[in-house]
Amino acid sequence: MPVAQHFDSQVLSLLQGKVKLIHTDKGAIYLVGPIKLPVNLFGETVEFKWYCWLNCEEVADDFERIIAKLSSVNLAEMQQSSVLVHGDFENAEHALIRFHSICHTGDIFGSKRCDCGYQLKQSMKHVAEHGSGAIFYLANHEGRGIGLFSKALAYILQENGYDTVDANLQLGFVDDSRDYGDAIKVLKALRAKPVTLITNNPKKLEALRQAGLDVEDRVQLWGDVSEYNEKYLKTKIERAGHLNEGEGCCNND
Ligand SMILES: [Zn+2]
Repeated sequence: MPVAQHFDSQVLSLLQGKVKLIHTDKGAIYLVGPIKLPVNLFGETVEFKWYCWLNCEEVADDFERIIAKLSSVNLAEMQQSSVLVHGDFENAEHALIRFHSICHTGDIFGSKRCDCGYQLKQSMKHVAEHGSGAIFYLANHEGRGIGLFSKALAYILQENGYDTVDANLQLGFVDDSRDYGDAIKVLKALRAKPVTLITNNPKKLEALRQAGLDVEDRVQLWGDVSEYNEKYLKTKIERAGHLNEGEGCCNND
């Protein structure tokens, strides 16, 4: 039996004021923030506000019950998603948003096999220049939803002639299993007005609209084509429905 824990009342009141409960079909999302996050963006310091969220089956207005569980559930084993917000996101007339799928190899290592890292930084730059917006960083979207280990296997197949879509299918996955439901719920908790979506992928725009996102416009993000991702980007256009409307080629999305 876990030992009942009691937390310092000041600690609790500090946290309680920063946690928002969002009801879902499966339970609740606990959204924590805003937290000041100054970011080094191309050599300049840009102020963002950061929020992180956690899915939980238990719906409790008493946040102490949730905190009491944290130390025993090993959250580090399952990464949480988060969102970087810039400017007056709630009230701005027009706000840019991006739903960025986590890419361990591209975002962290700067892999040139895809252009995720480039897209992430460019979206942050767009949002900062526009003045208001949000970058959702979706932690359960690795490899279009197959996970990091399976992505490594898929890369081996890709090195042997399979394209990105076929590699996923050969491993028994659907090509794209990403779900945006939770992120949209979090977005709605932060902003009620329509948003402009940063994406090259019309299918993603459609999926988000069907999931209830109020999108007024789409802006595209092009660039960072190299010999290493040419084939990958070509597959995106030919097989995954991305439009190559910009200069150069399209990006992962
Ligand atoms: Zn990537």
